[in-house]
Amino acid sequence: MITMGLLWAGLACFALGFSISALAAEVVPDQQGPALVDDGADTTRILAIFEAISQVPRCSKDEERIAAWLVQWAEERGFPVKTDAFSNVLISVPAAEGYADAPVVALQAHMDMVCQKTADSDHDFTTDPIRLVRDGEWLRATDTTLGADDGIGMAIALFLAEEPGLKRPALELLFTTDEEVDMTGAEGLAEDALKAERFINIDSDTEGFVTLGAAGGVTMEITLPLAFAPLSPGQATYSLRVDGLLGGHSGVEIHKNRANANVLIARALNEAVPFRLISFAGGSADNAITPASELVLALEPEHEDALKARIVAFEQEIRGEYPEETGLSVTLEALPNPADAALSAADTARLIERVFTNGPKSFPDCPRLPTTSASC
Ligand SMILES: [Zn+2]
Repeated sequence: MITMGLLWAGLACFALGFSISALAAEVVPDQQGPALVDDGADTTRILAIFEAISQVPRCSKDEERIAAWLVQWAEERGFPVKTDAFSNVLISVPAAEGYADAPVVALQAHMDMVCQKTADSDHDFTTDPIRLVRDGEWLRATDTTLGADDGIGMAIALFLAEEPGLKRPALELLFTTDEEVDMTGAEGLAEDALKAERFINIDSDTEGFVTLGAAGGVTMEITLPLAFAPLSPGQATYSLRVDGLLGGHSGVEIHKNRANANVLIARALNEAVPFRLISFAGGSADNAITPASELVLALEPEHEDALKARIVAFEQEIRGEYPEETGLSVTLEALPNPADAALSAADTARLIERVFTNGPKSFPDCPRLPTTSASC
């Protein structure tokens, strides 16, 4: 089983923060008849644990029962177990015989799942088990999401803890809450909760891949004092739109050289011509690369031609920088109804430069910005 091989390579070698494939496309034995494929003994055991997990409702923010199930699982096996105010569960598993001196390894999975169902389903996620269906080499659920994310990660961790005969160090099994919504479980975990200095997250979705490192993420709420004032006589109102970008997931697709419309629109305007910001709207989710953005600005009509020329040149520049963004369009349009008020030119420049051009780098006091590190 490739995934387990990778996992053990990870235990032996890597330090902080990587993921293993979560067997999301694996199968469970058909309850109505003989298995159609030979899963192998380990996979069969893991999938049996996954099936047991699937009996327990565990939508995000409704994890008390799966947390209690985990506590009971640990108590039945005599493993010390702790919970905290965020319903995280931490199970301490002793080392296999002969491995007491090996460094402790933490295995982490999240206990919540995304709860979605078909429009005509009467499934009640607050009470009903997920109904698993064996479909050849695939496992699926009847009319609902499967919950392999991250139930199979939980199942792998539990399997490694209880499977007799494995040569392994002491484990800390950490099961966190609310990963699919706001990660309050992981965020609320006490800093000294773990003894382990080696940590393996089991929540990736590409089978056969081990990721060394971690993509950090921070949501920033920025408050800047800004003053609006009436437009000057003669100033006109324009809309500048960047549109048609590929967008995508800010974690999964961040390496694909995709453009962010918010950043582009700020770059297009930064030091172009004097203007005053009226509004700026772009993006709908923290974890999405923004595909479209609109900025409304006040401009002296005498600067209109210069701005148009700047935008034409900028569009060419961007097409060279992002050759795959073939749908890119940048449009400047005079709006028929002028706005009542806009920021000063100075406030506009500050906002564009600090927030949209240089982003978090402009805020050196901001704690917990993502960093990368790796050791092996
Ligand atoms: Zn997940």
